[in-house]
Amino acid sequence: MPVPFVYHSRYSQLDLPARHRYPIQKYRMLKQWADQHGAKSSQWFTPSPLNWQQVRSVHAQHYIDELVNNRIEKSRWRRVGFPWSEQLLLRTLTSAAGTCQTAQLALTEGCAIHFSGGYHHAHHDWGSGFCIVNDLALAAQQIVDENGSARVLIFDTDVHQGDGTATLFENQPRVTTCSIHGEKNFPFTKSRSDIDIELAKGTTDEHYLQVVEQTLDSAIKQSQPDLILYDAGVDIYRQDELGHLSISLNGLYKRDHLVLNVARRNNISLAAVIGGGYQRNLERLIRAHAQLLRAAYHIWN
Ligand SMILES: [Zn+2]
Repeated sequence: MPVPFVYHSRYSQLDLPARHRYPIQKYRMLKQWADQHGAKSSQWFTPSPLNWQQVRSVHAQHYIDELVNNRIEKSRWRRVGFPWSEQLLLRTLTSAAGTCQTAQLALTEGCAIHFSGGYHHAHHDWGSGFCIVNDLALAAQQIVDENGSARVLIFDTDVHQGDGTATLFENQPRVTTCSIHGEKNFPFTKSRSDIDIELAKGTTDEHYLQVVEQTLDSAIKQSQPDLILYDAGVDIYRQDELGHLSISLNGLYKRDHLVLNVARRNNISLAAVIGGGYQRNLERLIRAHAQLLRAAYHIWN
């Protein structure tokens, strides 16, 4: 079976102020790219939104109450970077469900890709950096809750540290958090993941790919995972407006190919989320995210 793709049209349905930095149309456009490049209709899966009760597995009840009722203190809400709306909440719950579904599909099919996800700056009772609830944490928690002794590795290669994920699983031995990120970039106060690798501004392909390979190998040895949750953020790309690294388009492809290939070789299920990527030039941004789909195609077809 070809690699399952998880997507909902709601991902790109969010009214934002003009010139808002968030490339909300990228989800719809990446779906279109996949269809134009031969995705089969049987490959697509559509998530149903989580309910707030499910979100409690990693987030505080008081935070959820404030969020639902739009009662988060202004200065705290400002860190999120989105205007509050019912539409935002529904999109958030749908996207979090998508990552959970992708993880489940990966366990049965070997590999699955979510056309959203990677909201790794969401903490137990606060959000930041476009992240409100932590989909990676919700998916990992669901896997360990529902599968006796299952172990999960969250392998986060978005250019920003997965700080929310790191603190959420500080005391969860069955979930290992690993983040490879820019040293001098948001979040400026870093959390402690089980494994953190910081990269200097301007890092290029050769060094980067070496670091990814070595880090993934040792993370797998250390955590013995049944599932890798892979955040394939493309804000490491040299064209990215927030990234500060200097990775080429081919470097993106090679990273994704490497991670998927190592998982397959080691017989570990892999669920990927597309993660961050910030460019005003949406065509170029889609090409960057599409490298994950190309790598998956070349490994699994
Ligand atoms: Zn990012």
